[in-house]
Amino acid sequence: MRQIGAVDIGGTKTAVGIVREDGKILHRSECPTDPRLGFQSAMLRIVQMMQHGMDQCGSIAGVGIGCPGPLDPSTGVIGDVGTLPGWEGGNLVEEIGSRLGVRVAVENDADAATLAEYAWGATPTDGTLIYLTVSTGIGGGIVRGGELYRSARGAHPELGHQMIDPSGPLCYCRLSGCWESLASGPAMGAWFHEMDPDHRLLSAAQICERAQSADALAMQCIQRETHYLGLGLANLVTLFVPDVICLGGGVMQSSHLFLDDVRALVRNLCTQVPVEDTAITLSSLGYDTGLLGAAQAWLLRESASLSKKTTL
Ligand SMILES: [Zn+2]
Repeated sequence: MRQIGAVDIGGTKTAVGIVREDGKILHRSECPTDPRLGFQSAMLRIVQMMQHGMDQCGSIAGVGIGCPGPLDPSTGVIGDVGTLPGWEGGNLVEEIGSRLGVRVAVENDADAATLAEYAWGATPTDGTLIYLTVSTGIGGGIVRGGELYRSARGAHPELGHQMIDPSGPLCYCRLSGCWESLASGPAMGAWFHEMDPDHRLLSAAQICERAQSADALAMQCIQRETHYLGLGLANLVTLFVPDVICLGGGVMQSSHLFLDDVRALVRNLCTQVPVEDTAITLSSLGYDTGLLGAAQAWLLRESASLSKKTTL
């Protein structure tokens, strides 16, 4: 069975692993990304960690990389990524491929996570799956019939920056009241702080903990999260009527406080489509979603290029 090198680059940490093609993680290590040390420094650390993994597990057939966008998945060139300052123009395919001597596939990290959930998640479907991570931001991807949905010129659709309430807070995407600005973890913290300015800034996890202890303002914050999460999901159901919407990310660790109400709200809002056909589920891959997604990105790209060769 083939082994794939997997790299999950985040603004805070970078994970490197070796994943078997059946989805079993054989090796994993991680280090701080420290983007300010520069792109080359990070590439060197990734290669060193991968070589260490290969010493333990044996050779790899190729490397898959998930990285925050914007980036060009066909060339592996990084764009102006807010969490990776100074990396613009860096080419992941060339840097990693030439150092390790294998083919490299690069994917937007949210798209990679979507592929992992589609291939190895707990809710299998042959139809359409939308994966969303609700954490520091809201990001996601769409897989349809086994293939990633790509926009014009291969662009990644930004599900988290759909407009929800124009009277909402200003986002770095320059919209006021996009989904991320209203329903991400920091959006919960910001709202709580606005309502109770004397209190220090709380994380979404801390607010959820308070809601469990029946803190009135925290419970109101959960109601607000339910409302905005539901509005964004209802838009996605109305637009795509996917078979599965799979939710991951830090905020979902407290989903028992709001997920049933979110589902009920989505059912009420989506009157024009068979909403009962869309299962809204939780991600089952948890912490490893990024690495599994990177491996799956490589596997999918490899099988696509094989079938292209066969038809030529
Ligand atoms: Zn936005």
